[in-house]
Amino acid sequence: MSFAIHGLAVSRGIAIGRAVLAASSHVDVAHYFIEPDQVEAEIERVRQGRNAVVEELLRLQAEMPADAPPEISALLDVHLMLLQDEALGNGIKHWIRQRLYNGEWALTTQLEVLARQFDEMEDDYLRERKADLEQVVERILRHMKGAPHPVAAPARAARRQTAQDLLLDDSADVPLVLLAHDLSPADMLQFKQSVFAGFVTDVGGKTSHTAIIARSMDIPAVVGARTASQLVRQDDWVIIDGDAGVLIVDPSPIILAEYGFHQRQSALERERLARLRHTPAVTLDGEAIELLANIEQPADAAAAVQAGAMGVGLFRSEFLFMGRGGKLPGEDEQYRAYCAALEGMQGLPLTIRTVDVGADKPLDKAFKDDHLNPALGLRAIRWSLADPAMFRTQLRAVLRAARHGPVKLLFPMLAHVHEIEQTLAQVDLARAELDARGVPYGAVQLGAMIEVPAAALTVDTFLRYFDFLSIGTNDLIQYTLAIDRADETVAHLYDPLHPAVLRLVADVIAAGHAHGKSVSLCGETAGDVAMTRLLLGLGLRSFSMHPAQILAVKQEVLRADTRRLAPWAQQVLTGEAVATLPAT
Ligand code: PEP
Ligand code: MG
Repeated sequence: MSFAIHGLAVSRGIAIGRAVLAASSHVDVAHYFIEPDQVEAEIERVRQGRNAVVEELLRLQAEMPADAPPEISALLDVHLMLLQDEALGNGIKHWIRQRLYNGEWALTTQLEVLARQFDEMEDDYLRERKADLEQVVERILRHMKGAPHPVAAPARAARRQTAQDLLLDDSADVPLVLLAHDLSPADMLQFKQSVFAGFVTDVGGKTSHTAIIARSMDIPAVVGARTASQLVRQDDWVIIDGDAGVLIVDPSPIILAEYGFHQRQSALERERLARLRHTPAVTLDGEAIELLANIEQPADAAAAVQAGAMGVGLFRSEFLFMGRGGKLPGEDEQYRAYCAALEGMQGLPLTIRTVDVGADKPLDKAFKDDHLNPALGLRAIRWSLADPAMFRTQLRAVLRAARHGPVKLLFPMLAHVHEIEQTLAQVDLARAELDARGVPYGAVQLGAMIEVPAAALTVDTFLRYFDFLSIGTNDLIQYTLAIDRADETVAHLYDPLHPAVLRLVADVIAAGHAHGKSVSLCGETAGDVAMTRLLLGLGLRSFSMHPAQILAVKQEVLRADTRRLAPWAQQVLTGEAVATLPAT
């Protein structure tokens, strides 16, 4: 029976497909399709992983000291029994044969199916065996990780099919949507190359990094859907409505037809917007507006230029540091990555933000920050300044790359003058180190993110030290309103239009103009078309956003008259006018 689950709309569009439930495994699992002729080899690969675990457990049992508690041996028996269980083995074969999932994916999919059955058992003892099953599967996954891996077949792009096609076509080739309790930004990055046509998570807020990456992938996503990953079953048909923040499970033919219509409408809208790609972003009264892109990986740079960006206003370099088991990239590796991004830019400017890990962007799952208030803890520039050698490795790599194209260097989360001074001293030291090694480097402009209220309130000081500023509204809102941006339970209080937030944004823009320095805005509000006119009215002339949003924002710019918007925006600031302007 059809039902709907409501969450937060974080990435627009509609996805229709079968649900894949991500298991809560602690081992990173690759998701790709194998070729039909690889099926038997893949089943054999899983069998070998399982056999290795059986041998390991038998060895453990044999080596058990005579005085070991009998419960341990009994537990190993349970694990051995689960490993031989047909429900596990047959299920895995089913996912590999019918769906062409790779072995690890088949294993975690079947784990999820069986875990549900355990959850529904009346008997406490049996119900608790779920944890044993999870441990056993994790052991197999670890063995498979160490074992030689066939080259992953290139991920088939998830086909955006229409609802009508889906009614007719129930083959293995239907789009898949991923449902998970939570996905880390590093997981999301892995999925960037993958097959999923949409995402849903139980937790997360609108500007959580998981949501941000879904938007950068331009695929429909809903976060904060609370119990979705428990209510939906593996392989259920679902619709993700990324505009309304709704997940529809087991939709009826009428609902499917309705969503098929919406899908076609939004495809038409995209085609219409594509015509604006070469149109300069100039307002009706002749103000040129800079529309820049936010990117996460070097490979995104070329796509950003292709999407019509005049440069990159925010390269979140931390994604080069994540999902590597804590092993950080060295100077040469980073240098190559920045050069690759510059190559994609074709001479347009690239703003590289120094690493911003911490809070909801852990380096790796194993490094999840368990401090009480990670968002207020050792993240971003604080993390960099706590390890100056690591920080200078990044600075040297950026400075060297700057010989190959226009680079701006941006520092996240500065709040104190002494942090500014230490940061700039590290830049000088990095240059001195390169000089000492005789390594050439290029000129960079230096900028600060204004994303802590303290920075916004002392913006004149920042303007004395830096060449440019970039307002990070995601964090500025989080810290001004004391709302955890990743927590769905307070998402309704996360308000970009709060007068306190608008006041800080307006003052930073005005201060930048007064000092003749450029101020950009790179938080999610820059790509929100409902905010474009207000930000233009407040004097903003540079917006940095997901490439997929650029043309929609450009359309707003082309329709705007800043002479008319400026007095209205001042009234919004003082509460004399509402933030929604009648359409022009
Ligand atoms: C911001 O805080 O607005 C920002 C752009 O940085 P991030 O989202 O990476 O914290
Ligand atoms: Mg930020």
